[in-house]
Amino acid sequence: MFIGHFAVGFAAKRFAPRASLGLLIAAPLFLDMLWPIFLLLGWEHARIAPGDTRYTPFDLYDYPWSHSLLMAAVWATAFALIYFGGARYKAGAVAIWIGVVSHWVLDWIAHRPDMPWYPGGSARVGLGLWNSIAGTMVVETVMLAVGVGLYVSATRAGDWIGRYAFAAYVVLLLGLYVSDRFSPPPDSMNEVAWVGAAAMVVMLPWAWWFDRHRDLRANVAAAARG
Ligand SMILES: [Zn+2]
Repeated sequence: MFIGHFAVGFAAKRFAPRASLGLLIAAPLFLDMLWPIFLLLGWEHARIAPGDTRYTPFDLYDYPWSHSLLMAAVWATAFALIYFGGARYKAGAVAIWIGVVSHWVLDWIAHRPDMPWYPGGSARVGLGLWNSIAGTMVVETVMLAVGVGLYVSATRAGDWIGRYAFAAYVVLLLGLYVSDRFSPPPDSMNEVAWVGAAAMVVMLPWAWWFDRHRDLRANVAAAARG
């Protein structure tokens, strides 16, 4: 699952409008932010295996610290508490908690049975949407459309950055999604980890940036009423 996670972050803005989109997207991506780090540290393992599912060329055989349900709940709670400690915004904390856990649920839908319940457990679950290329792309594209639609229903551009940096972001996401699908498998998991980490470093501040240049529609309406 790729753009489906971004969709959750966009949608969350509707329910926690005062939280930055950068954080609301960081939450559903959080397990995939940890994963490259844990791969590079050698704490988790995966290998290139074209055909593992029809959609993805990775055999994700060992990632209990980033991708078990128990750890997802632990990371969610830690992220939400730290956020609440700083921001004191309950809706934002709830959106972040749900966002982090949603990653596990969406990966569970997409992955073949490779998702652990908890570190050390031997059971693996996954519904295997990735066995269908068309099914995966339809589900994720529809999710992104709904998520972006909810975001637009909650905010509107305050200036050109709020309009065009936002539009470029969505276009880039779709472009990355399609090119990822049609590019050959990478050479090594290290390459995957570095590219994944680099993508986070760009995509999260970018979301924070254009979100600051968009006004909450609720505020605009209140101002108009005077
Ligand atoms: Zn994941």
